[in-house]
Amino acid sequence: MDLDYTPADDAFRAEIRAWLEANLPQAMRDKVLNHKRLSRDDIANWHMLLGKKGWSAPAWPAEWGGPGWTETQRHIWDAECGRIGAPMVLPFGVSMVAPVLMKYGNEAQKRRYLPRILSGEDWWCQGYSEPGSGSDLASLRTRSVREVDHYVVNGQKTWTTLGQHADMIFCLVRTDPEAKKQEGISFLLIDMKTPGLTVRPIITIDGHHETNEVFFDNVRVPVTNRIGEENKGWDYAKYLLGNERSGIARVGVSKMRVRHAKDLAKRVPCGDGVLWDDPRFRERVAAVEVELKALEMTQMRVIAESSAQESHVPDPKTSILKIKGSELQQLSAELLLEVAGPDALPLDIDFLRGLGDAVREPEWALTIAPNHYFARHVSIVGGSNEIQKNILAKSVLGL
Ligand SMILES: Cc1cc2nc3c(=O)[nH]c(=O)nc-3n(C[C@H](O)[C@H](O)[C@H](O)COP(=O)(O)OP(=O)(O)OC[C@H]3O[C@@H](n4cnc5c(N)ncnc54)[C@H](O)[C@@H]3O)c2cc1C
Repeated sequence: MDLDYTPADDAFRAEIRAWLEANLPQAMRDKVLNHKRLSRDDIANWHMLLGKKGWSAPAWPAEWGGPGWTETQRHIWDAECGRIGAPMVLPFGVSMVAPVLMKYGNEAQKRRYLPRILSGEDWWCQGYSEPGSGSDLASLRTRSVREVDHYVVNGQKTWTTLGQHADMIFCLVRTDPEAKKQEGISFLLIDMKTPGLTVRPIITIDGHHETNEVFFDNVRVPVTNRIGEENKGWDYAKYLLGNERSGIARVGVSKMRVRHAKDLAKRVPCGDGVLWDDPRFRERVAAVEVELKALEMTQMRVIAESSAQESHVPDPKTSILKIKGSELQQLSAELLLEVAGPDALPLDIDFLRGLGDAVREPEWALTIAPNHYFARHVSIVGGSNEIQKNILAKSVLGL
């Protein structure tokens, strides 16, 4: 197993670094580096810019318009995006439903949806969780009854991230209530503008509208929008979840936060000097940096192992990346909170949304607490960390 970068990798890094420097709009970069919320247009415009360059879907094969990068190149891409402060391309289309379409979709579905995902024309959201069906996803109750060439869907999804902007939702629905719970589920692609579909906001602890409830009231979905076979949706759902976990370590995001905490600590007054003079604070920073380095090496090992495999199947060891990655995203957000101290307390929603000037000083501290609160969700989404530990115990340790 070779974990060193080759001269070709270094040249690749230089190429994408130069492109990002030249093309990432400064205003967007400032928002990311200062933990401000991106607007719908920020997210969509960045996706479209990358789409034109052919870089919006780093993991896609060239056949469907991907750049054909190796796993190492994709890792370098993620690291460089984190370093410069590039927004993340939303995973729902590119890395969640697209791999399912490629593996299980029919030709018509692939030809219709994949190019629109790549270009950013369609915004997708994920309709898996329901009230009472999160970790125990297979207990989901949204019903789907077939009427000739349509399904009629009734029920509710919840926590649907950015569903308020979405054009399409991929949904798990129950098509056979009599079957064993994993065996009666189907995977549907639903147009968000279909009559009977309603989106209601859930405002989270950081004061933002990012998540939603989605209600289905006799929503008619063409049977041609079903992926694969009826009642086999659980197989496709599990495949998607494996892919979701592998993209969740986000080392670049945590590194960016630690770098920001260090920069700020060098100018935040503390005693007769600045916070950075405090050896206990520097020890805390060093401890997070050591853990981040270990996570990065683990990610490289998982990448090296999966590159050596013929077929790409999600590796249960990606659960380690999810657990450590989310813990470090939270720890690095906590470091920033420690730097800001009580200055982080005021909640100024208009300022966070870029709709007005800050009402309190220092301005940089106002984004820190919402960012810390929002980071709580990373150990819950994509299968909570407790569930990841169960997966590791069973699939990796054989317990
Ligand atoms: C900000 C945010 C965004 C989200 N976005 C989406 C989205 O876009 N689409 C979507 O479909 N879902 C989304 N989710 C939902 C997310 O996937 C679920 O919240 C998650 O699966 C946990 O389910 P739950 O909330 O029902 O908690 P529960 O399943 O009720 O779990 C509660 C607690 O019990 C623990 N627990 C449960 N079962 C076990 C077990 N067997 N062993 C050990 N511990 C266990 C859990 O780890 C957790 O700590 C989002 C959630 C959040 C917070």
